[in-house]
Amino acid sequence: MSGFAPRPTGPVAALKAYDPGHDLPALRARAAPAALAELGSNENPLGPPPAVLDALHRLPVAEVFRYPDPLGLALRRSLAARLDVDPSMIALGNGSHELLMLLAQCFVAPGDEVVFSEFGFAVFPIGTAAVGATPVRVPALPRAGDAPRGHDLAALAAAVGPGARLVFVANPNNPTGTWFTRDALREFLRTIDPRVPVVVDEAYHEYVDDPAVGSAVELLAAFPNLVVTRTFSKGYGLAGLRVGYAVGDPATIDVLNRLRESFNVNAVALELARIALDDPGHLERVRAFNRDQRARLAAGLAARGLFVHPSMTNFVLVDFDRPAAPIEARWLARGVVVRPMGGYGLPTCLRISVGAVAENDRLLAHLDEALS
Ligand SMILES: *Cc1c(COP(=O)(O)O)cnc(C)c1O
Repeated sequence: MSGFAPRPTGPVAALKAYDPGHDLPALRARAAPAALAELGSNENPLGPPPAVLDALHRLPVAEVFRYPDPLGLALRRSLAARLDVDPSMIALGNGSHELLMLLAQCFVAPGDEVVFSEFGFAVFPIGTAAVGATPVRVPALPRAGDAPRGHDLAALAAAVGPGARLVFVANPNNPTGTWFTRDALREFLRTIDPRVPVVVDEAYHEYVDDPAVGSAVELLAAFPNLVVTRTFSKGYGLAGLRVGYAVGDPATIDVLNRLRESFNVNAVALELARIALDDPGHLERVRAFNRDQRARLAAGLAARGLFVHPSMTNFVLVDFDRPAAPIEARWLARGVVVRPMGGYGLPTCLRISVGAVAENDRLLAHLDEALS
């Protein structure tokens, strides 16, 4: 320790770093040679399509010693064709996390308000705090009977006052797994000042199987203030590569590009993400596997009388109706990693990702012991 006391600038002084839940490399080293059941980070246990790994093995060395395309044009063109938008409507990010931070940096000044829901994604308050803005955290719908803690869109809309400069909503949401329909989103957008950017985070879009949910991308033409973020980390199984994208009005994308670091997405990620897009069959298998295994996990948990929030994602939020930390600790002692939710204000809940079959087996095999 040098005794040096750094003096971060204004908003950064009060900022807390993103909490990844666990130090996974340390946990893995401690468990070795046994493997953990890693159900804490919503990764895709099936990984990317096989063609992605083939391409990785055959990667030309120039992909490593050359700078990547700063415009990421090949990937943006592939995405644009798939989404039926113009490439000028897409910005790429080093994961969508980077884009969420960038959106706050680009559109929000110190003292402005940023509106998001209670139990919204953890990056929303971090992006807000990073720019010295004021969070307007709108209470979620209460858990009542079978009703989960979903977003209260009417209350969110009402909270977008004259001081608001940005709205964040995730659909489906992490950590609740809850969702809203395209029609509900349209109604919501109609009531909001069209000068206020509304960011719809669709990190779990690939897992959505209800056509009524659809995607906010379909509403872009009607609402130029809408920005949709997506990622290759979840359904596409590429969390380690860090690729996300934002889709929005070209004018909004232009603003993001002013602040976006020029080579923010590396060459390997650009190439492999593009290849991942070309295997819709793999995505179908991922979806079907996830649906089966999620139902199995939910049934196993509900059979013990636990409240399992309905989910359209690759995880479930479980409410134990008592402090969840001891339950989490007993699973962890068996090498089963799940995500604590105290930081979200849900200390009686744990978030459990849909893992490989053997990982889900382990979680369920140790369920009674964890509850004891
Ligand atoms: C995982 C996740 C992301 C971020 O994913 P990246 O890996 O940064 O693309 C964004 N939003 C939500 C709601 C998530 O759960």
